[in-house]
Amino acid sequence: ADEARIALDTIADRAGSLVQPTLRLGVTGLSRAGKTVFITSLVHNLIHSGRMPMFAAAHSGRIARAWLEPQPDDAVPRFQYEDHVARLINDRVWPDSTRAISELRLVIEYESASGWNRLFSGGRLCLDIVDYPGEWLLDLPLLGQDFREFAARAVELARSPARSDLAGPWLAKAASVDPKAPASETTARELAALFTDYLRACKADDRALSTLPPGRFLMPGDLDGSPALTFAPLPDLPEAAPPRGSLQAMMERRFESYKSVVVKPFFREHVTRLDRQIVLIDAMQAMNAGREAVMDLERALSDVLMSFRPGRAGLLSGLFSRRIDKVLIAATKADHLHHESHDRLEALVRRIVERAALRIGSSGADIEVIAMAAVRATREATSRHEGEDLGLIVGTPLEGERIDGRLFDGNSQTAIFPGDLPANPESFFKLLESSPQASLPEINVVRFRPPLIEHGEGGIKLSLPHIRLDRAMDYLLGDRLA
Ligand code: GDP
Repeated sequence: ADEARIALDTIADRAGSLVQPTLRLGVTGLSRAGKTVFITSLVHNLIHSGRMPMFAAAHSGRIARAWLEPQPDDAVPRFQYEDHVARLINDRVWPDSTRAISELRLVIEYESASGWNRLFSGGRLCLDIVDYPGEWLLDLPLLGQDFREFAARAVELARSPARSDLAGPWLAKAASVDPKAPASETTARELAALFTDYLRACKADDRALSTLPPGRFLMPGDLDGSPALTFAPLPDLPEAAPPRGSLQAMMERRFESYKSVVVKPFFREHVTRLDRQIVLIDAMQAMNAGREAVMDLERALSDVLMSFRPGRAGLLSGLFSRRIDKVLIAATKADHLHHESHDRLEALVRRIVERAALRIGSSGADIEVIAMAAVRATREATSRHEGEDLGLIVGTPLEGERIDGRLFDGNSQTAIFPGDLPANPESFFKLLESSPQASLPEINVVRFRPPLIEHGEGGIKLSLPHIRLDRAMDYLLGDRLA
């Protein structure tokens, strides 16, 4: 039934696309990866003809104009572009992050180099941008598991050294309940709450472990508190089927509902309809948090890739996207590094992506990788130190940031040495794998305020500055504007 419905959706989308060429671009990434900032900057740069030398269609002057139009899907919330732009540019604060799915339609009018396109599409492309939490993609593997397998995996990970202290309160409570005892809503709620607390603690800055499924526990969207989200894994389940009316039976039923009323519809109605996908990752935050966080990012990324590049594992469900022909993995916030490190960041992420792809039996050769900053909050400077030039970055730290004991008020600039990334990703990963105590390169991650946007001619504010956003656009949209 899923397959049939997806096929119908695809036919409907394709038919619509014949009348009006459309590209559905998915934007995802784990929370705080930079989705909201990315979409806002992409749209702003297209509408205001920003500086995009590496985006051929824009650079050669073929994009005539771009504007927003009502989106095609009435049941999906709109991406609140205007609010986000106002926060970024007028207030110079970062906008509110993605909490659920949202959509925005941008129409791009371009001068087609091909007479065929000019004739049939009038040189217009509808870009439908779909923003959704990467956490939700982590649920795909659940479709191939029953409650017992899900619980066994979750408990095994929770007992691993990187997580066991955080999982303590939940594991203790879970060990104290009898799965065969009569089902109790109070116990189910208590277990679900403790399990969610544990998942949330893994995400905290100093750990920066990537999220584990179920993805909606941290990003519930509009399902907060519903029964389909009120369950938790139970440890050490016996082989025998649970008695009717027992706690275990209740948990099993809810786990099955979670899969059928939450996970499947999301994949069927949204993921399978995407044409292209960008996945944002905060690789520097992971590197800063240490070895476990890097390994964990790799694991999360392979779960995410499974939705777009099925390899062996994705054949489980039939709900992955067959339509996506381009996947871009983008390491964001490159403005936290001096430009000499941008290529190094790219090389490191490429290695992480290759390793993640291998895990799901795919080569990763067709996945593009980029290091970029959707909004550039810093500029560069150099300082001479013991006869050597040091690359510095200069920006306005957020109010409350503390650097070397100095407390910032959100209005003063400072220069920092951001640190160097390893030059050789190969040896970096060898080091990571060889010793748990291996120390990672120190990167100085300071949270800066968004940049001050200059006024151009006629008092119009110029578009948002970025790093390599134009390259990302060229890869994702270029061929459709040819
Ligand atoms: P989301 O949860 O994926 O929607 O993440 P956001 O787009 O809200 O970004 C989370 C935070 O990361 C922001 O509040 C900023 O502090 C930071 N951030 C995101 N993109 C950039 C960027 O391009 N440059 C810098 N300096 N910070 C960024």
